[in-house]
Amino acid sequence: MDLYTRLDHIPVGGETILGSPIWTSPGGKGANQAAAAARLGADVRFVGRVGDDEYGQRLRQGLLDAGADVSLLRTGDSPSSVALILLTPDGENSIIVSPSSNQHVSPADVDAAWQPGQPAVGAVVCQLEIPLATVVHASELAQQHGARFVLNAAPAQELPADLVGRADPLVVNESEAEFLLGTTSEAPSHTPETLVRGLLELGSRSVVLTLGGDGAAVGVNGGGFRHVTGFPVPVVDTTGAGDAFVAALVTRLVAGEDLFEAADYANVVGALVVQHEGAQASYPDAAEVEAQIA
Ligand code: ATP
Repeated sequence: MDLYTRLDHIPVGGETILGSPIWTSPGGKGANQAAAAARLGADVRFVGRVGDDEYGQRLRQGLLDAGADVSLLRTGDSPSSVALILLTPDGENSIIVSPSSNQHVSPADVDAAWQPGQPAVGAVVCQLEIPLATVVHASELAQQHGARFVLNAAPAQELPADLVGRADPLVVNESEAEFLLGTTSEAPSHTPETLVRGLLELGSRSVVLTLGGDGAAVGVNGGGFRHVTGFPVPVVDTTGAGDAFVAALVTRLVAGEDLFEAADYANVVGALVVQHEGAQASYPDAAEVEAQIA
């Protein structure tokens, strides 16, 4: 659950300040991506954990409202995870994440998706807000069962090479790309193409680099590179745009499009999302996207 408050400035040590009344909004990268994909018409099952508390109920309901199957969403012993988002007038927002229930998402939770009687899996999408061992296990299961494995490597952390090798695609923004490559934006070789090519050299089968208002860059190992140009749109709130982009990308990949076509579609969805306030609240359905493309 995302908890927001507006402040004049971030308090320093020993200081007490007043913030605006706190408001809440369902969040979490995995939940956002599941909700966005379900809104776009994908058949989504969400594997995760929430606490036995009010936030847990609202997070579950948010996924249900979007159309996701929550039968594999477990209610655990620990409280729902929370992100405290401090909004300051300079736009330099600060975020404190308090991981809790999501840190208990286990390999066994993922196994449940492949129990007899469960529907076939076309793609497995992971982010890095759950234990890395669970992500690795999910990627192994995807490989064993012939499902596509999509890794949104956010928040950035060191990744084992075999995990990167299963990603098709690896989806990152620029700062996550720099982290994985150990470079900085000041490096003279820093262009979307060099970043994508560098990430492909780490071993992933394909890469999608999101570039905010500049769109995205797509590369396939042995299959070319393309820059998907961003749409000049009036930006209201970029929160959750990256998650909606990943969701749209996978929705179209599962529907049979190639990575370049799917990235074009995801770029339209990302541009729609930034024109509205909030994350899950701003996600379009397929008809809204089609109306935009027409
Ligand atoms: P966030 O963490 O804010 O959700 P992110 O850093 O993961 O975002 P971005 O690269 O900022 O991801 O944005 C994802 C996609 O959303 C972009 O590839 C683009 O399609 C769309 N997008 C983001 N910002 C803008 C913008 N200012 N104008 C148009 N499209 C945008």
